[in-house]
Amino acid sequence: MSAATSYLKNLDYSVVQQCMHCGMCLPTCPTYDATKLERNSPRGRIALMRAIADDRLEATKAFADEMYFCLGCLACMTACPAGVNYAELFEHARAEAERVGVLKTPKRSFIRWFTVGWLFMDLRRLHLLGLVLRLYQQLGLQTLIRRSGVLKLMPNRLRELEAMTPQVQPKFSADLIAPVTRALGQRRYRVAMLTGCAQDLVFSDVNRDTVEVLAHNGCDVITPPEQSCCGSLHAHNGEWELAQELARRNIDQFPPEQFDAIITNAGGCGSHLKHYSHLLEHDARYIKRAELWDAKVKDIHEWLAQIGIEPPRANGAAPLHVTYHESCHLCHGQKVTAQPRQVLRAIGNVQLTELPESMWCCGSAGIYNITQPEMAGELLERKVKYIKSTGARVVATGNPGCMLQVENGCRAAGMNVRVAHPVTLLAEAYRGE
Ligand code: SF4
Ligand code: SF4
Repeated sequence: MSAATSYLKNLDYSVVQQCMHCGMCLPTCPTYDATKLERNSPRGRIALMRAIADDRLEATKAFADEMYFCLGCLACMTACPAGVNYAELFEHARAEAERVGVLKTPKRSFIRWFTVGWLFMDLRRLHLLGLVLRLYQQLGLQTLIRRSGVLKLMPNRLRELEAMTPQVQPKFSADLIAPVTRALGQRRYRVAMLTGCAQDLVFSDVNRDTVEVLAHNGCDVITPPEQSCCGSLHAHNGEWELAQELARRNIDQFPPEQFDAIITNAGGCGSHLKHYSHLLEHDARYIKRAELWDAKVKDIHEWLAQIGIEPPRANGAAPLHVTYHESCHLCHGQKVTAQPRQVLRAIGNVQLTELPESMWCCGSAGIYNITQPEMAGELLERKVKYIKSTGARVVATGNPGCMLQVENGCRAAGMNVRVAHPVTLLAEAYRGE
């Protein structure tokens, strides 16, 4: 899984040397905010990466730990006046950490092989795991085990992870969505729909809602029942070659020439999907199609705002008090900020209250809440405090990781709020619910 040559030394030097050390990004960085240590800041991390690229420093365990302490939230990119491409630096830095193997232990290697290298490389395997988990939950075994007190015998960390296990949906996307869904009324566009990996297991209902909303807005929607992971998990965890393999697979399965748009409803996936041309820049066979692919990938909110949102019919429903939490990779990674609010405002009875610090990471950050539970917990507490301050009954957010994290946080705080994807709220309005 690892390359023989250094990822950071091979990275285009114009990306490595962009940072002018101004420090404008520091106040927006959640890890720097927590520790006030330069090494935990974007500027500090970039300095470490550059030192390695310049051969002034070896990639040590301390370097690797630092790269995994970074959330990859990309808030620093939004703040940076010099246009530093932190996303690219960060992915290469983690790949470097994996290449030199300074974090390697037998347990870590097994977990990485099982998840990143096996489970998420073929979604049929993930579905199988989802089916087992669904049975475990539907047969009441989970409730039984939770009530039996057996969990108290387990180490704290395992107990915390068990409590975070999401509820698997009764049906996956392929059972809810036809391979071809025709536009309601006149067809204006032909789009493809990506159903995701974890999204498909835990939020297949959001995928169904997305397809319904697209059809309502004049799109024929093609949703192949068997799909691949987008590869963001792989790219963000230092598995560059596996991410490239998945990018090629997706381009083959969704030929970009055949669609007006390729739709994703997960902020984290979208941010990665829009950069396949970076991943495949040295692949002469794929680069042209990857560039076309990047141009065709659209976040659902972005696409709806672009084609115009058909307003749902007024049905006299009671006002719905909503606040909006921004997925980092939607707002910082894709700069999609106004469009989700447009989607929400299209729903007649929604009263939108702005969430203070709506762009501050909730701590989910891919698998950060599993690998760095303390920092993730602090961020979640901060997020929940602000959600509470709005008094909203619904938190809308456009990324599955954020949905789960915010849901867990609100539940732990004893709050009676619903967490929903903006597209679900729009689909419900179309259905007159
Ligand atoms: S990605 Fe987020 S956590 Fe990492 S350096 Fe940038 S702002 Fe800080
Ligand atoms: S990353 Fe950008 S904002 Fe941060 S110190 Fe470098 S140039 Fe300044």
